[in-house]
Amino acid sequence: MGAFEGKVAVVTGAARGIGRAIAERLAAEGADLALCDLQAEWLAETVAAVEALGRKALPLAVDVGSGDAVNACVAEVLRVFGKVDIMVNNAGITKDTLLIRMSDDDWDAVLRVNLKGTFLFTRAVAKPMMKQRSGAIVNIASIIGLIGNAGQCNYAASKAGVIALTKSTAKELAPRGVRCNAIAPGFIASKMTDALSQEVRDQMLANIPMARFGGPEDVAKAVAFLASEEAAYVTGQVLSVNGGMVM
Ligand code: NAD
Repeated sequence: MGAFEGKVAVVTGAARGIGRAIAERLAAEGADLALCDLQAEWLAETVAAVEALGRKALPLAVDVGSGDAVNACVAEVLRVFGKVDIMVNNAGITKDTLLIRMSDDDWDAVLRVNLKGTFLFTRAVAKPMMKQRSGAIVNIASIIGLIGNAGQCNYAASKAGVIALTKSTAKELAPRGVRCNAIAPGFIASKMTDALSQEVRDQMLANIPMARFGGPEDVAKAVAFLASEEAAYVTGQVLSVNGGMVM
């Protein structure tokens, strides 16, 4: 019997990358999944993977930065599944450039998806979770939210905001049996890292004591831990998954 048998999980940005790996991991341990991304048809591969594991998959088109869309999405999850046990706020974007060149639009777009999107979904699931007196929220932050990065002031601010939001949510919801934690991934292999030159990859690897990039499954395992009963006494924490890059 899997750790999440009978549980319902919502994952944003589930169409690819880390979000897809998280959805597959939770399904492998028994959860039914509401899969959220900008367009429902992008979710076909994740839906197929979840169903192949014998679990239910509900694909939902939602822009995480739109309050009306997020509320409608959570209402649909409650209509179909009757509850939400696990909320994973994973959808995120970058619009990198140096501070002095950054446009208002690049700042607003990243804060809207990464930080406001996490707030909107957290607010929408908080009520049903508080009512059922249980729930686990896991927010995907970033190592950049801890240490900053040249060329990413919007992204760094959004992820530092996610960490502060996580801690405040944890304090508010703990008395109602709802936990909220964040994960700060380091360098996770993706289409982006595949495109880098060997020289750049070597420079990056030199800063990672474990001498490898992480994989989406490394983040997914940490999500599964924080969402599970194994982490029943863990809330308001930031778990770094970075091969030792920042300690
Ligand atoms: P990705 O770009 O591969 O996937 C992001 C997903 O989010 C996509 O499916 C995209 O369509 C979706 N999305 C974007 N905007 C959305 C919106 N407004 N509404 C709904 N869905 C939206 O990214 P990834 O590398 O898998 O990253 C996932 C999360 O992990 C992000 O929050 C990212 O900041 C974080 N992260 C990634 C790394 C890394 O090295 N890849 C490191 C640290 C943190």
